[in-house]
Amino acid sequence: MLSIQPIPAFNDNYIWCISNQEKQALIVDPGSAKEVIDYLTQQQLTLKGILITHHHADHIGGVNEILNTLGEEIPVYGPKSNRIPQVTHFVDDTSPLVINELGIEAQIITLTGHTLEHIAYLIEGNLFCGDTLFSGGCGRIFEGTPEQMFESLNKLKDLPPTTKIFCAHEYTLSNLKFALAAEPNNRALQAYHAKVERQRKLNQITLPSTIENELKINPFFRCGQSEIQSNLRAAFELPSSLPVVDYFTHLRKWKDVF
Ligand SMILES: [Zn+2]
Repeated sequence: MLSIQPIPAFNDNYIWCISNQEKQALIVDPGSAKEVIDYLTQQQLTLKGILITHHHADHIGGVNEILNTLGEEIPVYGPKSNRIPQVTHFVDDTSPLVINELGIEAQIITLTGHTLEHIAYLIEGNLFCGDTLFSGGCGRIFEGTPEQMFESLNKLKDLPPTTKIFCAHEYTLSNLKFALAAEPNNRALQAYHAKVERQRKLNQITLPSTIENELKINPFFRCGQSEIQSNLRAAFELPSSLPVVDYFTHLRKWKDVF
């Protein structure tokens, strides 16, 4: 049985710590070192590996200091990228990542869009998706095309509904404000927004979400819905018949300036 705990860093990042009963741990996207080292020390966990989703500094910035402090031999798993020189073990979606020591097998999912080399790790029904899918939203498209991001999100939509979503930021509340603008009459969204608002007032984490929840409330999963489509047609003066991916593209554009 794995335990998955958030280590907050910066303003709104979560560095996820996956550990087993033998107190062995993996860390996902350590953008900062101090919080990770403090947490592992407090919890008496032994770091057995670092998982990286993409090259942005708030995801890899702590790797060097963690290795300097806890041991240079700790493996760092990640996509093949000359922008992540710390990676010692390249992973891709052609084969699962097996970490024998922890008895963990991670399925790797290629998620192009936020960056060109972004990947996710699916471990026992838990998805570590970096900056691709957020609760109520999706990542900005910095390097890929909207078509690539749409395809990446479609891969995640097809995962089992019970899949838990461990994304890298606490963006849920601001995402839901936009989601309500796109689909104001979605009852499930209204209820989720009220719940998240309460949680954030108490400074509680809103994650993990699930695929099942995101299918009900995330506008980037719901570009086929008529309410979202008619709002996009009005906002962008779009023709009446468009492929869903074009609605997605305009929805992402709208969110960029929201
Ligand atoms: Zn990023």
